[in-house]
Amino acid sequence: KTPEEEFSENIRSSEDRALRPQCLDDYIGQTEVKEQLSIALKAAKLRGDALDHVLIFGPPGLGKTTLSNIIANELSVGISQTSGPALEKKGDAAALLTNLQPRNVIFIDEIHRLSPVIEEFLYPAMEDYMVDIMTGEGPSARSIKINLNPFTLIGATTRAGTLTSPLRARFGIILQLKFYSPEELNIIIRSSARKFNVEITEDASMEIASRSRGTPRIANRLLRRVRDYAQVKGNGVITLELARSALSMLRIDEDGFDDFDRQYLRCIIEDFNGGPVGIESLAASLGHDRDTLENVVEPYIIQQGYVQRSRTGRVATAKAYAKFGLQKGS
Ligand code: ADP
Repeated sequence: KTPEEEFSENIRSSEDRALRPQCLDDYIGQTEVKEQLSIALKAAKLRGDALDHVLIFGPPGLGKTTLSNIIANELSVGISQTSGPALEKKGDAAALLTNLQPRNVIFIDEIHRLSPVIEEFLYPAMEDYMVDIMTGEGPSARSIKINLNPFTLIGATTRAGTLTSPLRARFGIILQLKFYSPEELNIIIRSSARKFNVEITEDASMEIASRSRGTPRIANRLLRRVRDYAQVKGNGVITLELARSALSMLRIDEDGFDDFDRQYLRCIIEDFNGGPVGIESLAASLGHDRDTLENVVEPYIIQQGYVQRSRTGRVATAKAYAKFGLQKGS
């Protein structure tokens, strides 16, 4: 399974939903985002207006869908969900928008993948709560304007650079999610363990947290795997020792890297002499698509300082060489 398949499989999994916090107070970490959002939420509620449109950036599994549902919850309004690639026809988009109740939320995941036609159709909807619909054909075709209820569009996307600037300009609130610290992930793991009704020691939880690539979805996934292991090999209680052997069986190392992460690093170091190597060559050499590399694999590796991205391509740092007992430049 590629990391991308693994991710998309997990995105809509029911356990994911069961573990989702419901209100802003239970949303761990992301302090600046929560501060900015709670002020905007309070102001919108005071005025009785729809909340400004919200754009959320961040790698997969960092809590974009969760945060969108929390926003709707905090506003006590309904939320409808769709995604960029799923919203193919103008008619579908029109139906979705004209059916919205006042101040409702519409969540569009992967909003960078909207077709240009749909994107343009959304501009007047976002700006003036209005859509243009064509009726009839040929000479009798006319465009009619339909007014919409005020609504909030929440768009989610993995990377900042991928959105067209006219679309980006139509969002009033822009939130950038960051990778979580091990301490924050530790809190999430302990809370998930309570929901699973499984006992976990503090050091075991911290161990999983530090190997979860700063990502709550991965933390929850590893917890499930370790729980299985502890049930089969132990008496159900997750201890540090059990967590460690389960993680090493899953081939997740101390840095939270899996086989593919290591293969990615080795490829830059060994096949491209440490870089710089362009993303296309790297993707071809690894037999992987560029999107997954850029959106799923690379962000954490780069954030942790193993690779630097320059104009000429990716470069492995001394830290990456050291990970394999090698020295850069020798
Ligand atoms: P995204 O939409 O960014 O891919 P999700 O919102 O689906 O990520 O989050 C994945 C899982 O991680 C959710 O099921 C939720 O349980 C957990 N999660 C994400 N962010 C948080 C958070 N801030 N606090 C607690 N749990 C979180």
